[in-house]
Amino acid sequence: MNVELLSGDPLRIRIPLLIVPVPRTEGPPKGFPADADAYVGGRLAFSLESRSFLAKEEETLLLFGKGDEGPERIAFIGAGKPEELGPETIRKILGRAVRIAEGLRITRLSAWLDPDWGLSSFVAAQTATEGAVLAAWRFKELKTQDEPDEEGSQVKELGLFLNGDPQEVSNGIRVGLAQARGENLARTLQNRPGNLATPTHLAEEARRIGKEGGLQVTILGPKEMEKEGMGALLAVAQGTEEEPRLIILEHRGGGPEDPPLVLVGKGLTFDAGGISIKPSLGMEQMKFDMSGGAAVLGALQAVAEMDLPLNVVGIVPSSENLLSGKAVKPGDVIRTREGKTVEVINTDAEGRLILADALSYAQTFNPAAIVDCATLTGACVIALGHAASGVLGTDPELVRQLQDAGDRAGERCWPLPLWKEYREQLDSSVADLMNVGGRPAGTITAAAFLREFVG
Ligand code: MG
Ligand code: ZN
Repeated sequence: MNVELLSGDPLRIRIPLLIVPVPRTEGPPKGFPADADAYVGGRLAFSLESRSFLAKEEETLLLFGKGDEGPERIAFIGAGKPEELGPETIRKILGRAVRIAEGLRITRLSAWLDPDWGLSSFVAAQTATEGAVLAAWRFKELKTQDEPDEEGSQVKELGLFLNGDPQEVSNGIRVGLAQARGENLARTLQNRPGNLATPTHLAEEARRIGKEGGLQVTILGPKEMEKEGMGALLAVAQGTEEEPRLIILEHRGGGPEDPPLVLVGKGLTFDAGGISIKPSLGMEQMKFDMSGGAAVLGALQAVAEMDLPLNVVGIVPSSENLLSGKAVKPGDVIRTREGKTVEVINTDAEGRLILADALSYAQTFNPAAIVDCATLTGACVIALGHAASGVLGTDPELVRQLQDAGDRAGERCWPLPLWKEYREQLDSSVADLMNVGGRPAGTITAAAFLREFVG
């Protein structure tokens, strides 16, 4: 999608569709919605007054303009209460705008955003871009035919009318594009099924990302893992024909001595559960068990595109978790890279095993911080539903920073405790620790397990 800053009077520029957000306030429209209302003959005020349009979040009123100059149509989109207006409101409005354009089979639209909403023009431009580019994403690469009704419905151009420093706006667009493209890459990789998105495939994608973004790429295969003593990652991989990979991407935008931020992501390309097999209902969803790894690859692509002045390393341990005569069994004891021994109680708790070796390997970069993202436990969804990700950490300040970042990105994180009592649930009678700690606090004991491998 091409996104650009437009100048001039939005009501005097010919465009198929103009988006005008309307905050939910008492009385007739104010500010720029009022100007747009005059253009559509006062029908916005009429709709508000007659309560056929309440300006609730994402509620839409589509009206046709009069005359030959100016927009052909205006979509007024509810922005909700002004005091609740934030970056996520703008993303949602632009997401809705893209859906409206698709429904009208329009490929160009513009949006008129108010400078007085308490958001900087940088944030407004960034979040508008993100909302549109994320909404326009489709996973169609495996369909051989387009849906006939979808023809001509791909939004290609977005213009923004936004008062403010043009340099700030264009920076916002640049950052928004990089972040949304990174997210869309993650979504594409997530949606590729297990027979296509194998560990080898993720490694190839990492090489492509590295080449395009000027990142250093290192890929470890089984031989290198053996040399590294990665017995946990290899134990998970021993039950499948697909070779595991450890993917390392390095962005060196900071000083040569600056310790890097290391992002680690679980790249389990299909999780059948191993010998502790999962029920078959919904098992196809287990192609998504590499989502943490996909997020890290997308993040590194965005970091490279923005050329952040930081050192950032992405590490993705990748394997399948299947069943075979060679698969790891409940009761097996394995030796991790860190040297600690683990009694495998449940082979479906494999994410923490591959991550244990990846986190141990992350130490070799002498990191400033490590952030590990994973679809690690169903228990986390039981605790927080789909409204937030659980965040567990050894550094309260870093946990707070992640929460803040999540709020800005519209991706909430919520902290869970990591008290030492939980570690006792992992005590093993034959090894240093077990890979599961029973049903109570399943998310926390998973984090307690990982903590053993970060020094
Ligand atoms: Mg599992
Ligand atoms: Zn898993």
